[in-house]
Amino acid sequence: MNKALRKAVIAGNWKMNKTPCEARELLEAIKPLVQNAKCDVVACVPFVDLQTALDATAGSNIGIGAENCHWEASGAYTGEISAPMLKAMSVPYVIIGHSERRTYFGETDVTVNKRVRAALDNGLTVILCVGEYLEQREQGITGEVVALQTKIALQGVSADELKRVIIAYEPVWAIGTGKTATAEQANEVCALIRSTVAGLYSWAAANALTIQYGGSMNAQNAAELLDQPDVDGGLIGGASLKPADFAEIVKAASR
Ligand code: PEP
Repeated sequence: MNKALRKAVIAGNWKMNKTPCEARELLEAIKPLVQNAKCDVVACVPFVDLQTALDATAGSNIGIGAENCHWEASGAYTGEISAPMLKAMSVPYVIIGHSERRTYFGETDVTVNKRVRAALDNGLTVILCVGEYLEQREQGITGEVVALQTKIALQGVSADELKRVIIAYEPVWAIGTGKTATAEQANEVCALIRSTVAGLYSWAAANALTIQYGGSMNAQNAAELLDQPDVDGGLIGGASLKPADFAEIVKAASR
């Protein structure tokens, strides 16, 4: 089974939620519930929570991630955080290209690629988000959109560096809306991303790549989505803020 070649990864995306104090409380609640996970568990948190989150999870099986990073190492980019800054804090993961960054903050495929490159150059593992808008799905161009986003984001990324990339397929219409892609829709696009990566690298590289689904995944629908042959994990927004629900999703990925 190709699925056995890949690591299942369940990652929370906390978005703009939780102060450092609240972050510590949430992680303390999650820790015992996921300690026996047979998948990788990650919490991507706001920048101001990173140190608290690293301290709170030290010695546990929870990896910590940031939600973005800039492509330059330093300079006049008010409000941005660089990949070397994350590296200096020993933050292992970073989300790049989330649809909320693309929609509200002008991220393009080109800036996503620059951020991916900077993150990889600094030893981080990237959770790269791709996904179509509802209009694009209705126009029947989901495959083209997602393949193009994947190809541009991975420009200049070597096969060796690809081992530190996780791709999250996140249909924009399913994020934070309570509308989930069906298991078949999720699997179809994850498989398409995998064959796009195979075209860029090789099937060996593509079969080793962890591809997550994200978009209103919750305790109820996780098992069916995660049972799909090309869905290797989840990027979880809302449900990652609820310890019991997040733990249920981790359990579903641990089967
Ligand atoms: C996300 O933020 O990546 C996400 C999938 O959010 P939600 O689970 O809330 O739809």
